[in-house]
Amino acid sequence: MKHSFTGRCPVCDRATVYGSQSDWLRDGLLCQHCQSIPRERAFAWVLETMCPGWRGMTVHECSPADRSISARMQRDCAGYIGSQFFPGVTPGTIHNGYRCENLEALTFADETLDLHCHLDVLEHVNDPGKCFGEMQRTLRVGGRMLFTTPVYDGKAATERRAHYGPDGIQYFAEPEYHGNPISDAGSLVTFHYGSDFADLILAWAPRCSVNMITLNDPYLGVLGSFREVFIVTKRS
Ligand SMILES: [Zn+2]
Repeated sequence: MKHSFTGRCPVCDRATVYGSQSDWLRDGLLCQHCQSIPRERAFAWVLETMCPGWRGMTVHECSPADRSISARMQRDCAGYIGSQFFPGVTPGTIHNGYRCENLEALTFADETLDLHCHLDVLEHVNDPGKCFGEMQRTLRVGGRMLFTTPVYDGKAATERRAHYGPDGIQYFAEPEYHGNPISDAGSLVTFHYGSDFADLILAWAPRCSVNMITLNDPYLGVLGSFREVFIVTKRS
């Protein structure tokens, strides 16, 4: 193993060894028990620390994986709702075990959810402003958005890299794809968020406050690039 650390995994809650064969720890540093990766462990730690009552909450997770912290939330939280976006399926209905939802136009009623969760989803959406507006609308006062998405150090202004328009996809940069749990084709990256991201969030969700936690902790297995977890709380 090229990199190895001992600690306690916040996803599976076990004493563990994290190991990586690659220098790219973000996707390579796995818990030996649950195979979780750093951003999942960072998210799990923030969830437990900042939202300790999550097991009793109404939780929506957008684009969950079928493993790691998504599987744990589904198992331990009775009010958990996992959603995927399936083109052609009526939003709000269940398809392949998931509720069909578009984060830009949610079917949840106003102020009915306690938590919106997603890991590495926002860099793939067409209109993040609509997503934040919809998450703000559907959260109860005091409710939170908890998520990860890559924010680029040294990039002052957020960059749009692609746009889904009526005439197809328009590219503004070299196309970049990430893995997608429900599609082998992968997900197109539409945004590289920069250091203006927190200000953009406030503009898109003005009733919220924004916090960002950046762990750097071998014991939690949170090392490598893009470790930020965002906590956006609806104040009023
Ligand atoms: Zn684990």
